[in-house]
Amino acid sequence: MMEITICGRGGQGGVTLAKIIASAYFLKGKYVQAFGVYAAERSGAPIQAFVRVDDEEITNHNQVQNPDHIVVLDRTLIASGMDAMLKPGGSIIINIPPDKSGYEEHFSGRKVALVDATSIAVSHGLGTRTVPIVNTTMAGSIARVLGLTLSEILAALEHLNFTGANKTCAREAFKQVTTRTLPGEIHRPPKAAGAVRVADLFDEDVGGMPKIKTGSWATEKPERRHLTPPCNHVCPAGNDVRGFVDAVGKQDYDRALSVLLETSPLPGVCGRVCPAPCMDTCNRAEYDQSVNVREIERAAAELGSRPKPEHPWRKEAVAVVGSGPAGLSTAYQLARLGYPVTLYEAGDELGGVLRTGIPAYRLPRKVLDEEIDYVISHDITVHTGCQLQREDMLRLSREYQAVFVATGLQNVSDLDIGETSQVAPVQGLHFLEKVRRGNERLDGQRVVVIGGGNTAMDAARSALRIGASEVRVVYRRTRSEMPAIFEEIEQAIEEGIILDELVSPVRLVDSENGPVLTCQGMKLGPPDDSGRPRPIADTSPEARFDLSCDLVILALGQSHDISILPEGSAIREGEALLGLSGAPFFVGGDFATNAGTVSAAIGCGVRAARHIHRTLTGEDLFPPEEDPVATSEHIKFQRFAHQSRAAVKTLSPAERRRCFDEVHLGFQAGPNGSGAVSEAQRCLSCGVCNQCDRCLEYCPEGILQRSDEKDGYVFDLEYCKGCGVCMTACPRGAIYMTEL
Ligand code: FAD
Repeated sequence: MMEITICGRGGQGGVTLAKIIASAYFLKGKYVQAFGVYAAERSGAPIQAFVRVDDEEITNHNQVQNPDHIVVLDRTLIASGMDAMLKPGGSIIINIPPDKSGYEEHFSGRKVALVDATSIAVSHGLGTRTVPIVNTTMAGSIARVLGLTLSEILAALEHLNFTGANKTCAREAFKQVTTRTLPGEIHRPPKAAGAVRVADLFDEDVGGMPKIKTGSWATEKPERRHLTPPCNHVCPAGNDVRGFVDAVGKQDYDRALSVLLETSPLPGVCGRVCPAPCMDTCNRAEYDQSVNVREIERAAAELGSRPKPEHPWRKEAVAVVGSGPAGLSTAYQLARLGYPVTLYEAGDELGGVLRTGIPAYRLPRKVLDEEIDYVISHDITVHTGCQLQREDMLRLSREYQAVFVATGLQNVSDLDIGETSQVAPVQGLHFLEKVRRGNERLDGQRVVVIGGGNTAMDAARSALRIGASEVRVVYRRTRSEMPAIFEEIEQAIEEGIILDELVSPVRLVDSENGPVLTCQGMKLGPPDDSGRPRPIADTSPEARFDLSCDLVILALGQSHDISILPEGSAIREGEALLGLSGAPFFVGGDFATNAGTVSAAIGCGVRAARHIHRTLTGEDLFPPEEDPVATSEHIKFQRFAHQSRAAVKTLSPAERRRCFDEVHLGFQAGPNGSGAVSEAQRCLSCGVCNQCDRCLEYCPEGILQRSDEKDGYVFDLEYCKGCGVCMTACPRGAIYMTEL
């Protein structure tokens, strides 16, 4: 990118000059930007204008800090250190009569280009000696220094309707400008150098702040606020999504992971299997495409390092029953609060459905094992192979100071479709467990899976991977009503799975061609209690048909088994169960809510740990009420460049349909190492100030200051006239105006 700072006085046409230069490059097919900064709207007052030229879309709207070239329209503005921020090799183009000096001592070692633009302009009637209009004249000399041709700068002038004397002056300046490199060493930038230093209105010898406290003219004043980003608002785990995405965007992976570990011990898991409601609500979706938060979470889990856990320091012991994501999350949060935790699990390994249901091609075992190991490393005592019963629960309530139960959904829904001599329906979860243990092959078989949720899709895709020749999923509504994760359905179809929508199974029967599943075509009716359209049988004769099959898998949902709880207890998520003697019981995860996602189970764990802690100590760790949500109306989309998502690597359908290798391989390498960085930088940081300085740069009164204290900025309300430019400039709605 090339950047130019123009220093002039009001009335000389500095901002227009910026436009002329920008137009010359625009006509050459470049991206350009031209804008001015006014300290006061009056002739003679110092102004600065800026030009940016690039081959790519320009998103930086701040003032130019390190120009490639400086243009000085009025030599009285030359100040010591003016070139401190000039890039090496840059030029200073000065409007100065040939007999005048005074610039040499300021610009030693620099390349200077000199032209008497004032004389040229005034001699052709452009302005007066006191306020000469030198923009078009200077454009000619600047063009020469920048390597533009005379015809290119003349074309730019015409493009902006500058003709006659303006073109003549530009032509003369193009010819007359002389360049040379001054002797001596270049001045090193002073330590805290800012933008190009020119004498300005607030310099002691020029002006200073007005005597009158102009803030008294205001009828409104700016206030800063914090809104809740929509991604944070909907995250069932309660993750600070914006926070970890921001950290990844700054390549601070340890911070990103520590933000995640506040609420979730399983970011590598969620970075692979979460349905990511945050991506559905991302405001950026309205502009181009939502930020790929799921993959960024995965990258944070891979690139950040985990802090060493502390040992428990409290005496009250807590038992957790069930080691799915809800149990793991609760145990982890309690351990971080200092409680000694004992985890009881019926299976021979920890993880719940993460291990027994979700196949390795979506969630590699290594990732799961590493995250579970980290949870356990918080001095958690583990008992696997413990299928606890009701009487065990009562025993736990005597041995521990609190008990948390998250045993998931253990009852599977059945369907009476009969069986044939060769085919009896099997349950999807049992099938997945057998596949996981490597005990199943289906070479050449035709498989029909009944259902539309994650279990159905995982069973279907697994069946294909262990050799099935044909796999069909029959579902009684349409694809858009299927509860399975959208991407899973897409990928299943890519792999060759046939989706039979609006089909309901009727009966498994033997036919002369072998076993068939008789099916009934369906239509969609008015919504049922779930809000989805009710499937109604299509009574036309052709709506009945048979599907040949060697295996039928049922994936029709699950429900909880409350027989382990004491009689008469009611389930209320996160709350202690009533009517029990001994220590309080708490329940969570799918067992309590049937929410059906890993992130919801993790969120239950966070809340359960806070409930337990409050019950045992009286201390309330629940967060204060959430701030209002930042909607797309708060976002100034025009301040952001369009940018498509960073590329991710995925195995092709041919590579993946016969093996359990992971399908998603994360981001491809990007310009900053991981593509996660550029993807994270797409985040709009909705409603949360990320100190982009735009308010500070655009404040016409200069009354905003960076501060380490007050949220990064302070307003000097004694001089704020309440114009609201800061509010308009803020791209993310973090500033608003209130009446005084
Ligand atoms: P579970 O994960 O079910 O864990 C319960 C644990 O309790 C188990 O380990 C069980 O052995 C143990 N237990 C049960 N009874 C006892 C007992 N009496 N004594 C001791 N221990 C006991 N969600 C997503 O977000 N993304 C997905 O991609 C996704 N895919 C899925 C795929 C499948 C096949 C299935 C079935 C579900 C999927 N889900 C997915 C849903 C998600 O896995 C669950 O919502 C989540 O695992 C619920 O967590 P939980 O801890 O409440 O229960």
